[in-house]
Amino acid sequence: MADPALAIDIGGTKIAAGLVDDDGTLVHQAKRPTPDGDAEAVWTVIGSLVTEALAAAGGAVRGVGVASAGPIDVPAGTVSPINITQWHRFPIVDRVSAIVAAPVRLGGDGLCMALGERWRGAGRGAQFLLGMVVSTGVGGGLVLDGAPYGGRTGNAGHVGHVVVDPDGRPCSCGGRGCVETIAGGPRMAQWAREQGWDAPAEADAVELADAAAAGDAVALRAFRRGATAVAAMIASVGAVCDLDLVVIGGGVAKAGALLFDPLREALDSYAGLEFIRDLRVVPAELGGDAGLVGAAALVISA
Ligand SMILES: [Zn+2]
Repeated sequence: MADPALAIDIGGTKIAAGLVDDDGTLVHQAKRPTPDGDAEAVWTVIGSLVTEALAAAGGAVRGVGVASAGPIDVPAGTVSPINITQWHRFPIVDRVSAIVAAPVRLGGDGLCMALGERWRGAGRGAQFLLGMVVSTGVGGGLVLDGAPYGGRTGNAGHVGHVVVDPDGRPCSCGGRGCVETIAGGPRMAQWAREQGWDAPAEADAVELADAAAAGDAVALRAFRRGATAVAAMIASVGAVCDLDLVVIGGGVAKAGALLFDPLREALDSYAGLEFIRDLRVVPAELGGDAGLVGAAALVISA
């Protein structure tokens, strides 16, 4: 049997590493919180997770796939995640190459989520897929004509920063009016509070979903507003890319029908052209494992 792929998933709150076999099964995984320390402190956590995974593989892997929060620079092999401020142009590919004797491939976390769902999850069989996450932020990645589409620098599919409100609020990316400023979990909770949602200061999208499920009118409006923004973005991306499927995962998407029902309703009103009218939107299936499975897909062609 072929050696497994080593997969690394680097996010602002947690870092995971795992081993994935030829059929996309995650056969080992471990995760740690992303540390607050300096750039090297973050690297130290990755180094130890990689060492553990290598030991679990008996020392031999066929390649390493790295999924990272963006922005990234694939030609340069560096990453500058918005939510890991200690890292600016961090040379992740060189660092991993120095400790693992195998080819290293880098991809955005959204792209890897899309690849994971396409290989083992809700995106199986899709040739033109948008995989996306609605969570603290909104992210995504594209598979076009059956192949990962990274664009010039590997950042294509940053759908959270599609502008849906030209007069909108400032966004963490430096722009304004992005989908993420409306549909990101903390932004939905903040908006609900401004509209009179009576909740503790630390209440977030999980409590907002509970309130909506219990029939709270403001919470329901917050979900409808977020879902409508996501639908506007999907209609726009669908018009540009001629997609056949959209898979949505992430914490806010766990609210299920609270998000998907108003989203499909709004999409029906935005998607006018015939080739977008058939666009299906479905929940993700792999949860937090999609990033690792998709990172492995960068080195095992699924
Ligand atoms: Zn933005």
